[in-house]
Amino acid sequence: MKIFVVTAFPGLLSGPLAESIIRLAQESGIVQIELVDLRDFTTDKHRQVDDYPYGGGPGMILKPEPFFRAVEAIEKKGKLVNPRVLQMTPQGKRFNQGLAKEFSRLDNLIFLCGHYKGVDERVLEHLVTDELSIGDYVLTGGELAAAVIIDAVVRLLPGAIGDVDSALSDSFENNRLDCPHYTRPEEYRGMKVPEVLLSGHHARIEEWRLNKALEKTKAVRADLLNNE
Ligand code: SAM
Repeated sequence: MKIFVVTAFPGLLSGPLAESIIRLAQESGIVQIELVDLRDFTTDKHRQVDDYPYGGGPGMILKPEPFFRAVEAIEKKGKLVNPRVLQMTPQGKRFNQGLAKEFSRLDNLIFLCGHYKGVDERVLEHLVTDELSIGDYVLTGGELAAAVIIDAVVRLLPGAIGDVDSALSDSFENNRLDCPHYTRPEEYRGMKVPEVLLSGHHARIEEWRLNKALEKTKAVRADLLNNE
């Protein structure tokens, strides 16, 4: 998979993408992630990416031209035909595990990050295929939202996580949350690991895990159980 992120603030993304599983996925060639600096697609000497809103009012708007030029350059360089162009916006469809799976099956993704008051609406109308939100709150920019989505997608790529069963038993798989987990020590400050997990009895352990997962899901996310 090849991922491009168009942003006026690449530094906001370089840290999160350079650690742990996402770093290893890049190093082993499972994914290539390219940060594309929006300012490289300006034509003025100040490399200005924003401007005042027509009609007045507070906040600056990211200009349309650098976004169109950046996406056209990416399409040309990567020989991409009709790639998915994902606009990060609080007004978008709420990102979830189902979308993470859908995106993980694609060869290319282009992320567009807004900033300030937002992005010129013509970008959304004519360039973007999907408007995505990571939740009902407002961030200063789309960079952290893009990092969240990239993380959720890349960990699903074959080979990204050593133990694929681990991802398949995580929350939101099978319409429920994950079960509780414990590791050594067996007892810590009087708090003991549940007996059944030490029993070595696989069927009983599986049954306990399923019951605990269902218990937690019923208590905090009962809506998931009806998502058959
Ligand atoms: N004026 C916009 C609105 O009220 O819908 C908010 C703009 S926000 C301050 C600046 C940028 O941050 C947005 O263009 C978007 O790229 C990003 N952003 C903010 N909240 C987000 C969220 N919940 N999900 C995804 N992107 C978000």
